[in-house]
Amino acid sequence: MPHYKIAIVGAGPAGYFAAQALQNSQSDELTFSIDMIERLPTPWGLVRSGVAPDHPKIKTVAKVFEKIAVEPNFRLFGNVELGRDIQVNDLIERYDAVVMATGSAIGKKLGIFGENLKNSISAAEFVPWYNGHPDYADFDMDLSGKVAVVIGAGNVAMDCARMLALDPTDLDPTDTADHALKALHESNIRKVYICGRRGPEHAAFTAPELRELPKLEHTDVHMDAMVIADAHARAAAKGEIEKHLESNLEAMRLVAETPKDSNERELIFHFLAAPKEIKGDGKVQEIVFGINEVENDAIVDSGKTFAIEADLVISAIGYESEPIAGVAFEKGKISNLDGRVPNTNVYAVGWAKRGPSGVIGTNKSDAADVVKLLIEDLKLPKATGDITELLPTGHEVVTQEVWQRINAAEVAVGETQGRPRVKATSIAALLGLGKA
Ligand code: NAP
Repeated sequence: MPHYKIAIVGAGPAGYFAAQALQNSQSDELTFSIDMIERLPTPWGLVRSGVAPDHPKIKTVAKVFEKIAVEPNFRLFGNVELGRDIQVNDLIERYDAVVMATGSAIGKKLGIFGENLKNSISAAEFVPWYNGHPDYADFDMDLSGKVAVVIGAGNVAMDCARMLALDPTDLDPTDTADHALKALHESNIRKVYICGRRGPEHAAFTAPELRELPKLEHTDVHMDAMVIADAHARAAAKGEIEKHLESNLEAMRLVAETPKDSNERELIFHFLAAPKEIKGDGKVQEIVFGINEVENDAIVDSGKTFAIEADLVISAIGYESEPIAGVAFEKGKISNLDGRVPNTNVYAVGWAKRGPSGVIGTNKSDAADVVKLLIEDLKLPKATGDITELLPTGHEVVTQEVWQRINAAEVAVGETQGRPRVKATSIAALLGLGKA
């Protein structure tokens, strides 16, 4: 009975769904052993360090990951970094196939003047900061000013804006990192703008996220009803409006029409606002936008501008993958054809494969498709050895057992505070929690 050894690099949703697809493909004729390699001592990828803390339901998918992880053919190798502790060629030689599920962690750049001023940051810094990612625990987050501007009309921009605009007491019962919770309690930010460069009909927000906005008790959310109505008219003029767009525009109409409560905290949406320049003497003071118009469904620059005086600018305009030695990258993702890296036994899944798009569930069907190709490509088993022979003696590997101890310890502290968990935010602290 052929038995194949598969290495999966990256313990985020795409990696786990690839493992699940492999497990589900087993039969009397085909079996797999799966080694999942993760740079951090914690698995779950964006479910831990991306999903907003006030969205605990989305994080329940971690239960699925833990079921996959306790199958007898699965081993976790956390605290092992590809490129530092092991090289991709080491895996290529030792495993029948290598699945890269390494995501995209670098925030795209706006490419405008003033982008590098202090307090002009990326969602790729702000999000892992509030989620307690060890690389960002010490990030210098300045919330001393009153006005923040978030650039982008996608769900990440929405998360960033909401996290800044919420009353922080709403975050008390969440797993927001302690350092971020403290900083958000002390934050002076009261006005948060969220600016999309195209119209409401082109926004990448999804309806569930928009429908949450009128429910924010301590924040007034402003959208211009006329702007939404114009967008609806433009969409209708093109024919039948697609269901998801109708749902988005309806959710925006409701936001626009929800009575305001004169809350001190405000979240203000601007559409058709293209960032042109960030101004400031050493740090952000103002951001200038070009005003766009929609003409025959094309976006055109009207030549007019407006400016917002701001203390903080967060760009949430998408991500690209961090290059890994030994793997070819193009256009911010691993060079691949439907997940196959040509002429190798390497495959890519998730954001590393297709770029930063889709919700967590998108990775399930996507990984299953790639695993189907991987199985089609399998020849006779050739795997020799495995990762254990590559790591120096004494390397502290976070196995599933160690991770379960870390997880249990975080959850136990959380229980005493009425929170899902209290995250350890340094590698040393995490490894400490994992000790028997
Ligand atoms: P996204 O959905 O692709 O949105 C990126 C936004 O940035 C778009 O509005 C885009 O505008 C804008 N943008 C790009 N370049 C720009 C520039 N130079 N200047 C101004 N604006 C620019 O990406 P994302 O928000 O990072 O989200 C990534 C994926 O994760 C998405 O699939 C998202 O749905 C998912 N996600 C889901 C949730 C959830 O389910 N709650 C939460 C977070 C993320 P254009 O359209 O004009 O290019």
